[in-house]
Amino acid sequence: MLHVGINGFGTIGKRVADAVRVQPDMTVAGVAKRSPNFEATIADDRGYDLYAADGREPFDEADLATAGTVHDLIETSDVVVDTTPSGVGAANASLYAEHDTPAIFQGGEDPDVADVSFNARANYEKAVGADTARVVSCNTTGLSRLLAPLRESYGVEKSRVTLVRRGADPGQTGRGPINDTLPDPVEIPSHHGPDVQTIFPDLDIDTMGMKVPTTQMHTHSVNVTLESEPTTEEVTSLLADESRLFLIPETLGIDGAGKLKEYTRDAGRPRGDVWENCIWAESITVEGRDLYLFQAIHQEADVVPENIDAVRALSERTASAEKSIRRTDEALGVGR
Ligand code: NAD
Repeated sequence: MLHVGINGFGTIGKRVADAVRVQPDMTVAGVAKRSPNFEATIADDRGYDLYAADGREPFDEADLATAGTVHDLIETSDVVVDTTPSGVGAANASLYAEHDTPAIFQGGEDPDVADVSFNARANYEKAVGADTARVVSCNTTGLSRLLAPLRESYGVEKSRVTLVRRGADPGQTGRGPINDTLPDPVEIPSHHGPDVQTIFPDLDIDTMGMKVPTTQMHTHSVNVTLESEPTTEEVTSLLADESRLFLIPETLGIDGAGKLKEYTRDAGRPRGDVWENCIWAESITVEGRDLYLFQAIHQEADVVPENIDAVRALSERTASAEKSIRRTDEALGVGR
């Protein structure tokens, strides 16, 4: 059993902990938090040992038992998943090195925080046995999962993507916009293209970003110029075979992220999470060598299975991406 510590128990951390808990080969060593807020009480209810990231006193005052400090958690873990806010992960890197504990960082950190930027479908093998990996951001994960099979089957000459991004996560009450449509970032290309190139260094990709007043999901408008000329049916069939791509059938009547989230809540998914890229099947269109499609990405969820695979890669539990992805997906319910 791999003992996995989670440092930072917020939007991503609590989902990663719950995903670790259902894996047959992993257990949650504990979670580190700074404050005894509602998420700390949830961790306690779930039976996760709580470790204090910033001193135990606030937890004592809130009557929440702590098992030790973040140093104790790192020492007792085989792998730590750092899910602290952007920038804090980089500051924590020396802690993991000090304890000689392999660590996984998130996409809010710069690529140089880790030995490898990671996406299970695209470059699992590069992280096998590494000391550190960075699971790329939700948007980069979504694009890497899509581009990997396209590159393998048809070759990609050029990708152009407009990312229509949610203004905030549901819990981020201080963010917006609440009544505007922003070019964001206004610079072109946006940072997303270079981030995808941390996974595919030779990829030609231009990205433009926008922010809109929704908390549901990101939506990507994708145009890929391929090196060969498959039919729309061939591309549809290729993408349908990918376990982390869900092709939304027209018959479901899902016209946007709102209904997608409603669908996964109705299906009983934890927190209504959508771990897969959701591609509108009828949007898949090939004209000559140009492929067009729309996909929605649930920012809070798509990186969760990737973190599980990164744990397996770093700990060298399996050298096979396919095996790890299948194991993760079966345990979590991805694709069901
Ligand atoms: P979050 O703010 O929801 O959660 C971070 C948690 O870490 C909070 O509970 C915070 O109190 C805690 N924390 C802060 N400083 C800490 C410290 N020193 N030690 C331990 N815990 C500390 O953030 P998030 O959305 O989960 O993002 C975490 C990382 O994941 C970031 O790098 C982010 O860019 C990346 N990410 C976020 C999303 C998303 O949409 N939320 C998607 C993909 C990747």
